[in-house]
Amino acid sequence: MLSNKLASAITLCISLLSPPTTAGVIFGSDGNLGGGYRWDADHYEIGGRERSLNGGLRYSMQGGSLTTYRDLFNWDITPTLEAFGITVNQAFDAWQSVDPVTGLTTSLNFVDDSATTQVIGNGFGTVNINGAEIDLLASNAGDAGTRATSYFNASGHEVTLTSGTTNYSNSGAIIGADININNNQGAIYSLDFFGRLLTHEIGHALGLGDVEDFNGNGFIDDNYDDSDKLGTLTNSWGLLVDPLNPAASVGLTQFAPNIVTTAAIQTPGVNILMESQGLGIASGNPVTNKVPLTNDDYGMRQFLYPTLYAAQVPEPSTLAIFSLAILLFLRRSKVTSS
Ligand SMILES: [Zn+2]
Repeated sequence: MLSNKLASAITLCISLLSPPTTAGVIFGSDGNLGGGYRWDADHYEIGGRERSLNGGLRYSMQGGSLTTYRDLFNWDITPTLEAFGITVNQAFDAWQSVDPVTGLTTSLNFVDDSATTQVIGNGFGTVNINGAEIDLLASNAGDAGTRATSYFNASGHEVTLTSGTTNYSNSGAIIGADININNNQGAIYSLDFFGRLLTHEIGHALGLGDVEDFNGNGFIDDNYDDSDKLGTLTNSWGLLVDPLNPAASVGLTQFAPNIVTTAAIQTPGVNILMESQGLGIASGNPVTNKVPLTNDDYGMRQFLYPTLYAAQVPEPSTLAIFSLAILLFLRRSKVTSS
């Protein structure tokens, strides 16, 4: 249970180094899978503002258009309007992608509302819930870091989960998020990096924390083992989430920060998008990857926005048999045609 007062959650994302990553973190947890903040799946209004997944999550860009927003930043090579638009769309689309391992889908949906809703923000490292549900802003962090903050405010009302569970009390409701991307004159962005940073910040606006767990919430994982950091921090666990009651998921544990440490998360080969330090960028998850979610990111999406639906994922064994069949067919064809 969360208190009724407004709560705000914060994240600082530093981007220069790229150590690797691993598990999932929610804000405001009770240390035992309860708590966290989500957008309400059911229509919800506060002070005349619609604040829920109903109708999609509306986002708005500072300046009211792609051109204006692009031109608030400094670029190594200024992207064309088309390329910038594609990059912004891809950052949101990544969160709507089907988990390639489990086939889990999502009902998350985003709507560009820039033309009709003006952003309202209070600067780097802050949030103002007015404006769109997610405001994309440019603000000066006071240094040249290519980094951003994503803060949201939440209320303690009971939410409806995307799986259909009503009056879910083990969660707070997000009621407005601001993503502030540093536009200090010294902060020079490549388009690919800007896209990765935005994708990471959208994760925060959805309620995912940095996996380094700076806020002391503890990693959610199924099987963390200090003697096999790489293996246990990269495996898929989204199917272990109880979609009707995530806090009661059997087989998931919230590991305290002194167990799954920042150092563990930096294990080479662990390249989680929600890593604050490095954003998961590594050879296994290059900055050019437009769908950079890993098993842990998909697991966290399922934890916060559970779905009952999975797309069909081909079994590797079926694929192997299929390939073998084609191979046999080809060989036979060759024989008969010769
Ligand atoms: Zn972050």
